[in-house]
This record gives sequence, C-alpha cells and structure tokens, in this order.
Amino acid sequence: MSDSRAPLVECFSSIQGEGVLVGLRQVFLRFSGCNLNCSFCDTPGMTQTPDECLLELTPGRRDFFKVPNPVSLARVASLIESWTAGWPGIHHSLSITGGEPLLYGTQLQEWLPALRKLLPIYLETNGTLPEALAPLIPHLDSIGMDIKLPSASGCAELWDRHHAFLEVAAMKDVFVKVVVDQSTENWEILRSCEMIASVDSSIALILQPMTLPNGSIAISALRTLELQELASALKEVRVIPQTHKFMGQL
Ligand code: SF4
Repeated sequence: MSDSRAPLVECFSSIQGEGVLVGLRQVFLRFSGCNLNCSFCDTPGMTQTPDECLLELTPGRRDFFKVPNPVSLARVASLIESWTAGWPGIHHSLSITGGEPLLYGTQLQEWLPALRKLLPIYLETNGTLPEALAPLIPHLDSIGMDIKLPSASGCAELWDRHHAFLEVAAMKDVFVKVVVDQSTENWEILRSCEMIASVDSSIALILQPMTLPNGSIAISALRTLELQELASALKEVRVIPQTHKFMGQL
C-alpha cells in the first residue's frame, strides 16, 4: 500500500446523525480543514490542522489514541480492517467527512479504492469542489452534499458551484442538505429547489434545522413547516435535525 498521507482530525465509530442515512452505524473519517467558513461551523480542527489525529481503538468505545499528522492510508486502512474483521457487520458504511474532504482529492483517488474494499463509501461534502469530485465518482457509493444558504451560513452565494457539483454528484446516489434557521428566506429555498429539479427532481432534499451551541433549535416549528411547503416541487423533502447532538453521540 502506498505511503499517501493526509491531515486528519479523527477516526471513530458512531451513529450517523444527519441526512438520509440517519440512525445507521458508520465509521467516520474526518479530514482537517475547509474551504468555507460557515457561521454555524461546530467542527473541530477546521481552521488549524491538529498536530495529532485521534484514532479510536475499539469501535464506539471512545478509547482514543493519538498519531502524528499527516496520517498514512496504511494506518487508517489497518485500523478499519481490524474493526471489520473483529466486529463484522456492525458498520453500514464509511463516512468520509470533514471539514471538506475534497480538499484532499489527490489522496482520495488512492485512499477510496483501498478503503472501499472494507466498507461502502459515503462522502459528506459542502458541495463546492466539483473538479475534485469528478475523478472520485467511480469509487463512491453515496453522497450527501450541502447547499449553503447565504442567510444561515453567512457564506457568499455559491449557487453556480453547487449546481456544477450536483450535476457531477447525480451520477451517484445523492441527496442535498440545507441548514435552515429563522433568517432563511423563501427565495433561497425556491432557488435550491429549482436547481435540484433542473438536475433531477427525485433527488431528496433534507431541511436541517440549525442547532445552536446551547442545543436549542434556531427556527420555529411554524417556519419549518412553511419552508417544507415551499419545497413541494420536489418529490422528497424531509426535515431532519442533528440527532447525534441530543443523543450524546459524537
Ligand atoms: S462547510 Fe462544514 S466544515 Fe466547512 S466551515 Fe462550513 S460547516 Fe464548517
């Protein structure tokens, strides 16, 4: 196996708390760094790569140990292989997450074929780097991509990037996730739906109510219902909050 390395934050086993795979057990491989700066970002290790990456020894038991960054593919693969051999069948898939994992597209072209021999690959991405996604398509099983609304995320408008990304992602099983809060405007939901429908109206849209640092939800029940109604041009629109937070999962 090659010595390809990438800066990682952590690798652990937990329950997927967001999107259409909610509730399923996954291995999470979190890459460091991101090309965006969302106002609601709650992910550790995004502004500065940690000197060391946390690897869980036993799946789900939080018995972490540290290895220096950047971490090699061989190290990650041997850990996940020990889990799939020692605890066969407990994991649905491997979540490639961040930060923004597509910042490491070159490494992922080597990593994904090797890791996919162990578990199906699910990519969690902010949906802004279509050029990095394209060569990885053959090595992916499913994709969850964000559309960052200017209101809730504080990001500049990214519509063209998201549209180009979705065109590529639609070659695989993909869903779109949009974080919403009380400041979310009707036109943002309508524009998101138009974009999705222009690619494939059967692509699921997940409206994810924003969770505030104190654990409360940043959008009223009524406004959530209104936003779901606005998205009715799509075949599948689900409202799913971040369930891992109130379960006490990582
Ligand atoms: S895309 Fe995700 S990781 Fe990056 S800044 Fe936004 S919330 Fe944080």
